[in-house]
Amino acid sequence: MSDDCIFCAIVAGDIPSRTVYEDDDVLAFLDANPLSPGHTLVIPKAHHERLNDLDGDLAGRVLATLHDLVPAVEGAVDAPASTVAFNNGPEAGQEVPHVHGHIVPRFADDDGGPIHAAMGTRPDLNDEELDDVAASIRDGR
Ligand code: 5GP
Ligand code: ZN
Repeated sequence: MSDDCIFCAIVAGDIPSRTVYEDDDVLAFLDANPLSPGHTLVIPKAHHERLNDLDGDLAGRVLATLHDLVPAVEGAVDAPASTVAFNNGPEAGQEVPHVHGHIVPRFADDDGGPIHAAMGTRPDLNDEELDDVAASIRDGR
């Protein structure tokens, strides 16, 4: 629990939320400022800032909850699709520093884009640079 974390305050019951799922480790609730009807957040109850900070077991529980809720969220608002994503770190747009996965129901006529729309210009990487990045990722696990 972090004293000045709004999501820890929700877990503690100090700030109300529209809970849609809860177990010992995970809480899911409606986003207070939804990007679309049904916009849901899934969080670990324990305070961790980023996905990187979760151990594998807790990360698995968060992902399992996302997987479990996606059909229910889509079904509740009759959405044919959803964007499921983490803003992982402030440079990626994360505003609340308590890791949370978004389920954003999507509709054919909404004015959103794919996750690719989050980026502007794309890097022009050659084969050697791509090979180096792939090797660094393999070595960094
Ligand atoms: P981020 O930009 O950090 O990935 O997303 C944070 C999300 O938390 C936003 O979509 C925002 O609307 C939501 N949010 C912020 N404060 C509250 C709150 O007090 N209650 C709920 N339910 N959602 C919140
Ligand atoms: Zn927190």
